[in-house]
Amino acid sequence: MKNITILGSTGSIGQNTLQVIKQFPDRFSIVGLSANSNIDILYQQIKEFHPRFVCVRDQKAAVNLKPKISPKIKLFMGEDGLEELVGQKRTDEIVLAISGSGGLPPLLKAIESEKTIILANKEALVMAGSIIMNKSGKKKVKIIPIDSEQSAIWQCLDGQDKERLKNIYLTASGGPFREKNKKDLQNISIAQVLRHPKWKMGKKISVDSATLMNKGLEVLETMFLFDVELDKIKILIHPQAIIHSMVEFIDGVILAQLSVTDMRIPIQYALSYPERLPTALPGIDFFKLKELKFEKPDFKKFPCLALAYRAASEAGTMPAVLNAANEASVDEFLKGRLEFISIPEVIERVLNRHKNIKQPGLGDILEADNWAREEALRVVNRLG
Ligand code: NDP
Ligand code: MG
Repeated sequence: MKNITILGSTGSIGQNTLQVIKQFPDRFSIVGLSANSNIDILYQQIKEFHPRFVCVRDQKAAVNLKPKISPKIKLFMGEDGLEELVGQKRTDEIVLAISGSGGLPPLLKAIESEKTIILANKEALVMAGSIIMNKSGKKKVKIIPIDSEQSAIWQCLDGQDKERLKNIYLTASGGPFREKNKKDLQNISIAQVLRHPKWKMGKKISVDSATLMNKGLEVLETMFLFDVELDKIKILIHPQAIIHSMVEFIDGVILAQLSVTDMRIPIQYALSYPERLPTALPGIDFFKLKELKFEKPDFKKFPCLALAYRAASEAGTMPAVLNAANEASVDEFLKGRLEFISIPEVIERVLNRHKNIKQPGLGDILEADNWAREEALRVVNRLG
């Protein structure tokens, strides 16, 4: 029996994780659940999965939840509460499904507490990849990816000699605007952005998938998680989203991971690893599939891709600045204060103004993150 705590259980990945766990009651037990403020969904989850520990980041929401739940459940609140939840001895594995930079402190705490980490959040790795991988390496803490591309790469590299790796082909569906011209990206509405053709996800990652910053963040995620050189990571647009990524070795052999487009597949393997468990999801019907297409990514139409490669090659605090400027821009877009097409412009201006620190400590990264958010807001105000 694995004892699991899910951080961000009320989100898209969190809810999918609970659906997987429900299929295997004799294998997984829920010890802890957490949300930012959505106590309605959290309350339903508490009734169904009976966690011992719960954390609500928003204090007001936590106070509202308290009288509704059994006094036997320990309720934590705030950011410190999240870290207390992570540190609980009863938990073996932490599913990190919080979106955005809020995932970094609990991730570091999970490493410190020597828990296996099942990682969906990519922003924390982008911000502080070297520090996270160093610390987890020293503590021998496993980080198992959920992100479908990272899961594919991890599965393809399993048992292989990484020294013989030639390229990683990171696939991307291309997002909702793959077939649009650059000039059609003017006056894009929030609703258009949130309608992803292949995946149903939280709002932030849906915007990132439309700008292709999601793939840019994944380039950084891949670089840190698998410790590979940037020039070996190639993006491949693959609209069917059936091949979730591929690795090529020096002898010309390419291994790919294929499965239906459903996050419950990589989530289940991350939870069951090293075992494989049966799924109730339908498999790929190759006779219906007809074709698998591949295209070059369009760096001109989607400048976020080039910005991410730039931040990755400049390294230091640049990736954290990229991430923070992106989070702030996405937030402004979702509030109706920034045009969709201006998101990369804001990020580029912030990157241009940043004085990079090459070997940053955690403090430098957090400072750069803060600065980049403020700078992004200043740029948005100037543009508006
Ligand atoms: P959602 O927005 O759907 O869910 C986010 C979850 O995190 C919610 O439970 C939310 O609580 C909670 N949360 C948000 N901010 C904080 C914070 N600062 N502190 C504590 N809790 C917080 O996101 P997704 O599930 O789509 O994505 C989660 C992560 O997984 C992201 O990093 C994303 O990039 C990654 N990912 C997602 C995929 C997907 O298919 N959705 C695929 C691959 C990766 P509340 O509900 O109360 O707001
Ligand atoms: Mg992905």
